[in-house]
Amino acid sequence: MPDLQARLQARPQARPQARPQARLPLHNPATGALIATLAADDAASVAHKAATARAAQPHWAATPIAERLACLQRYCALLVEEAEVLAQDLTRETGKPITQARTELAGLLPRIEFFIEQTESATRDEHVFSDGVMHEHIGHIPLGVVANISAWNYPYFVGHNVIVPALLTGNAVLYKPSEHAPLSGQHITRLLHAAGVPPDVMQCLIGGAEVGAALLQQRIDGLFFTGSHATGQRIAVALAPRLVKVQLELGGKDPSYVRADANALLAAQSLADGAMYNTGQSCCSVERIYVHESLHDEFVAHFLATVQDMKLGDPSDPKTYIGAITRAPQLQVLQAQVDDALAQGARLLCGGHALPGPGNFFAPTVLTEVHHGMQVMREESFGPIIGIQKVASDEEALRLMNDTRYGLTAGVYTPDEAKARELLAQVDAGSVYWNCCDRVSPRLPWSGHGDSGIGLTLSTYGIQTFTRPKAWHLRQG
Ligand code: NAD
Repeated sequence: MPDLQARLQARPQARPQARPQARLPLHNPATGALIATLAADDAASVAHKAATARAAQPHWAATPIAERLACLQRYCALLVEEAEVLAQDLTRETGKPITQARTELAGLLPRIEFFIEQTESATRDEHVFSDGVMHEHIGHIPLGVVANISAWNYPYFVGHNVIVPALLTGNAVLYKPSEHAPLSGQHITRLLHAAGVPPDVMQCLIGGAEVGAALLQQRIDGLFFTGSHATGQRIAVALAPRLVKVQLELGGKDPSYVRADANALLAAQSLADGAMYNTGQSCCSVERIYVHESLHDEFVAHFLATVQDMKLGDPSDPKTYIGAITRAPQLQVLQAQVDDALAQGARLLCGGHALPGPGNFFAPTVLTEVHHGMQVMREESFGPIIGIQKVASDEEALRLMNDTRYGLTAGVYTPDEAKARELLAQVDAGSVYWNCCDRVSPRLPWSGHGDSGIGLTLSTYGIQTFTRPKAWHLRQG
């Protein structure tokens, strides 16, 4: 015994405990099952990643553009090879129907190819003046270290809108995928590294709001955010004192108007898809529909028939069209909007309630006899809910379409192109659609105004936004 006592007393002092590793549990929203518990970042690891990205960025910016382009070309090939694994994980972590997950992955390639084709010309030095003695050039230089805080609803689309042009223009990227889509974020990062992007140049940060908040504390040269208006506002306020460039791609309450001369069936099919695709969880989902009174009942009948044909259920089933609500608290938001509408006299044509568990499901919901006193016509729903309002004229439709804090997209259905152009020119939205909806093109700028955000991605402007112009005044001799 004394021997043991002596040995115990002689034991070296316990070393300070290593920091416990932060963890992020990840659940399948369609089943509630735990999918994984991921190692997460904390304030110290975020600071370390930011410092290593800062140190690595100048070398990446000095790498010839041909090499950066080649990395992204190899990345496209890897995406094709692994597309099915990526789609399955996307479905597991977000509840997105598997066919729509596959479509998102397939739709990524033309987007990346656009950036690959356009980056060199969009960022080439411009010679804007010369009188033989005085020369003026505009250069486009990378911002430096770019932070990207991202949403879960289209993690591949919204992530790549930032990551690809940022890397191609010579920036380092600190990418925080949503805590609801971290597997997708890890896949993107892993494949970019495998394609040759240096690990310090492209870094993934795993975690929720606290990790995003820690990222804002770092020395960054641009913050590119996709997410809700409330978070976007918080980020803008946090970064304002440091005058960091901020881009915010936020929510919407996107309207469409079906004119008296429209084809009711085609408009109803197109708009039902626009409202319910991705389970209504798209920033550019159709969220409000105005229909001319002469066409209203016919339109509603076709709309309802189309929605009732959409299969709701297991997102891993290729026949499923409406999957899970990714974030459980959103079920209450949707229910509150329905209850508020019904209390104010709306008519419920289908749905209107969550489904019993397991999993987060909300029945596709169609409401008519709605008005702008109801939340469902004012606040972003972000779920499979739609309000359809009767209007008496183009003027009334236009007034109602513009009666919103948001300004992301808006559409008009009519065979009359001149009328459509006239109406769409008067709608305050970043993107406008004639006889279509819920559409994004890599060739066109993606931007919102009002509460839908500031700045833009996509198009050649969405490449230049990751650079800053440098003015060269050069006097000969
Ligand atoms: P969210 O605002 O809840 O989260 C977005 C990201 O911000 C997440 O990565 C989250 O971890 C992070 N975050 C949360 N709090 C933070 C804080 N205080 N500091 C720093 N980071 C923080 O949004 P969401 O639920 O992921 O996405 C849905 C919203 O995104 C919808 O409103 C949708 O319309 C919008 N959205 C917009 C576009 C667009 O292009 N305009 C595209 C997709 C989604």
